[in-house]
Order: sequence, then structure tokens, then C-alpha cells
Amino acid sequence: MIDPTPPPAAPLRLMLDGAALWDNWRALARMSGAAVCGAAVKADGYGLGARAVMTRLAAAGCRDFYVATWAEALAVADLGLDVAVLHGVRADDLAVAMAAPAHLRPVLNSVDQVARWRDAGGRRCDVMIDTGMNRLGLSPAEAGSGALTGLTIDTLMSHLACADAPDDAMNARQRDAFAAMAAGVPARRRSLANSAGVALGVDYQFDLTRPGLAIYGGVPVAALADALRPVVGIAAQVLQCRDIAAGDAVGYNATFTAAQPMRLATLNLGYADGYWRGFSGVGRARIGGDVRAVLGRVSMDLTIVDVTGLDVREGDWIAVDYALPEAAAASGMSQYELLTGLGRRFERVWC
Ligand SMILES: *Cc1c(COP(=O)(O)O)cnc(C)c1O
Repeated sequence: MIDPTPPPAAPLRLMLDGAALWDNWRALARMSGAAVCGAAVKADGYGLGARAVMTRLAAAGCRDFYVATWAEALAVADLGLDVAVLHGVRADDLAVAMAAPAHLRPVLNSVDQVARWRDAGGRRCDVMIDTGMNRLGLSPAEAGSGALTGLTIDTLMSHLACADAPDDAMNARQRDAFAAMAAGVPARRRSLANSAGVALGVDYQFDLTRPGLAIYGGVPVAALADALRPVVGIAAQVLQCRDIAAGDAVGYNATFTAAQPMRLATLNLGYADGYWRGFSGVGRARIGGDVRAVLGRVSMDLTIVDVTGLDVREGDWIAVDYALPEAAAASGMSQYELLTGLGRRFERVWC
């Protein structure tokens, strides 16, 4: 028999700011001008939890959601919201995609995917055109040579390779290539911009924008910094405190040695939670008004911080800095990796 007792409360929390999520999306919607603003919620809402994110963004007015796979789409199908599956329809997806409710639709990426969907009698869909990134999508030549005939296309889209580098000439080249090919393809809407693309201005907005990172408080480009607020915070519980003497070492490989007596707190947080080893020695924790350093190596499940001179005890909760632009710079990870790596051991607390 499995013990029906619920597990004890998690020693690790993701503190999620629903008002900031809402405001960030509204800010991006305003910046999208006449274009409708959607939301990328792939990778489980960039690690925050797709279901909770979608419910909140739908209440804010968002109507268009993007996931990577059919498994991700089916997991939120019961919400009844429009979801497009960016990876399209593999042979292995076809039966599931055809049987799925009509508010889930594929983004077709190749001539083979188009043929598969059309031959199966597939419903309304999106189509991705590759305008230079060479990742997913039909080439403009393929799209222009009749490959799309007979499809009912909701949104024709492409994706920018360099939107986070506003001065890169590739942005204008991709926009021009997309506008030129889109003129010849019947579709209800056209869409090009991700988060950073929204900031490139009206020439990039077309009918629909598809931000992801910026909704979650990531800042892909300086022009968005003032418009966005952090959504994600980390709070970890103290498992143990100890006093060490000058000359004592801390953590794996003894990479930190105390120069004077110190007090340490060991937190229930590690790289298995997405708090990567790049934070070793450079991560920061906040205790009251004090900002204190992570000492030594981040372990799989544990992180040690300096609490010298502070009243910190076993069982206390400590806020660990996770402001995305700064945390990315400190750890050497991208803001995307910092969000999508956040693990399952966090209790996700919306406030
Ligand atoms: C992930 C993704 C987005 C969102 O990108 P962000 O940089 O997170 O704003 C938009 N469009 C496509 C096709 C994507 O794959």
C-alpha cells in the first residue's frame, strides 16, 4: 500500500509575481501597436508552469499561445485556448493532431509536413517560412512554388535570428524577405516578431507578435528594460547553520577558504533545481537588507551562503537573487536557460 499521507511542504519555492506577468504582457501588447500580441508558453511556460501562465494571460486579454510539441498542447487543451504547435506535425504526431480539438493547430514547417497535413484532410493551420535562420520552416522558394495550395492558413510566420541585436542588418533582410513572400500567400494573419522583435518597431509587427522571454521578466534587449518587471524569485529554506574558523574550507573541492571566522547557512537549492554551478562564488542571497555571497561550489541539491553576523537559523527562508539580466551575466547562462532550467522540486507560489 502507498501511504496516502501528503508529502511535507517543499523546502524550495519559486515566488511568481502574477501582477508583473500581467503587466509585462500588457506592456508588450501596447508596444505591438496595431498588431495582436500572443504568448510563447513552450517548455512549460518557460519553466513557470504553462497552465498558470496561460490562465493569467488569457485574463489579461491574450488569445494566441505557442508551444513546441503536441504533448505540451494536449497538457493545456482543457483550457480551451487557441494553441499553435511550433514543431508542426511529424508522422508520429498525425493521429494525435487530427484527433485534437480544433483550438489546437500545427505550425507546418516543411513540404513534407504540409503534404502530411493536407493529405490527411487537416483543418486550419499556421505555416512557418524560413527567411535566413535555417532552422525550421519552408523556404520562400518552396512556399512560392505552390506547395501551400489548398491549405487554410491562419497565420503565416517567420522567426528573426538577430532581433536581440537591433543594429544587425539581418533583421531588415529577414523582414523584407518575409513581407515579399507573404504578399503572395493567402493567410488570415502574418507574424514575425518575438520579444526582442517587438522592440524593433512597427515595420516588424505585422498582424501578430509572439513574445516569450519578456513576458516572464527576461530583458533580451535594452530598449525593453524599462517596460518590464521581474516575475520570478527564488526562496530556499536553511537546512543547517554552522560556525567555521579561519582556514576552514567550504564545499566540493574546497574552492573557498575562510580568512576569518564565519557563519554559514546551507540552503536547499542546487544545480538539479536549475541553480547552475555558474553561480558558485558569484551568486547572491538577500537576508533582510544584507546582500551575501554564495561561498564555494554550488552542489546538486545544496548551496552555502555567508551569514556571518546575521541572525539566521535552521528553518529560515532566504531569498536568492534571480533578476534575469544580472543572474545571466553572473552565471554565464542565458536568461532563457535560467528560466527553462527551473526544476520540478520548486513549489510554484503565485502572488
Ligand atoms: C520561442 C519562440 C518565440 C518567443 O521568443 P522569445 O525570444 O522568447 O520572445 C517566438 N516565436 C517562435 C517561433 C519561437 O520559437
